[in-house]
Amino acid sequence: MSGFRAIQQILPPPPAHMVGDGFRVHNFFPNGYDMGIKRMSPFFLLDYGSKIEFPPSEKPRGVGVHPHRGFETVTIAYQGKVAHHDSAGNSGVIGKGDVQWMTAGSGVLHKEYHDKEYSLEGGLFQMVQLWVNLPAKFKMTAPRYQGITNSNLNKYHLPGERGTVEVIAGHYKDVQGSALTFSTMNVYNCHLIKDAEIKFKFQSTHNTGILIIEGSVKINDAETAEQDHFILFGNEGSEIKIEALDNCIFLVLSGEPIDEPIVPYGPFLMNTKEEIQQAYSDLHAGKFGILED
Ligand code: MN
Repeated sequence: MSGFRAIQQILPPPPAHMVGDGFRVHNFFPNGYDMGIKRMSPFFLLDYGSKIEFPPSEKPRGVGVHPHRGFETVTIAYQGKVAHHDSAGNSGVIGKGDVQWMTAGSGVLHKEYHDKEYSLEGGLFQMVQLWVNLPAKFKMTAPRYQGITNSNLNKYHLPGERGTVEVIAGHYKDVQGSALTFSTMNVYNCHLIKDAEIKFKFQSTHNTGILIIEGSVKINDAETAEQDHFILFGNEGSEIKIEALDNCIFLVLSGEPIDEPIVPYGPFLMNTKEEIQQAYSDLHAGKFGILED
């Protein structure tokens, strides 16, 4: 047997659905496949907006004001631009290669729209939204917003200009991730030129997957994954080897599972049903603040 990390499944993108009128997404988990709501913990949800061309629009497409509590939303833009506003007073626009790491914590109202200028011109759009669970002791932490432009992302450069690892969270070799997190995880965006190779080593207990954003790759000298596919790794073996079959971009997710009960309900992700009820009563009592539509 090789010492490679086991490849459990290579998943094609599930049928897409719209989130609001601005985000056409494939949900790989928790709903797209029957992998269980904690299979990728601490990552709870992966919505992938594969490439789509939006026509120009005077009115930005998106999702209106809605609440969140108990987790973080992480948005990564690959094409197009996304604007965010929340009731904690934070706002920002992210474009190609930028990351927005929003901690809902005790609760925010936010809205997510295409950027106004991008909307007027239209064009290609491609993004990822992740929901990252918070450990129980941090679920009611104060809301926080980390807007990280591509130029501010810490990067590891492969020798010979063969590629770049943008270390969004955690670390790769001696490069620290740019985002602060509440539990142990690694999140990278990797850009490799054709025929370049890279290796990753994560603890086998850490749930791990790779989403192919652009191009196609060979994994562990064995299987091939195409653009828009998600590679789900088993929790055995150690090293992962990725070889770029084209110039490619892929998103690496690996994290220590949060070993606590979770109760997801709508826009909330808590540990008990009572906490979900509390979230609704706090929302109706106005404790999530105010945000204009
Ligand atoms: Mn949201």
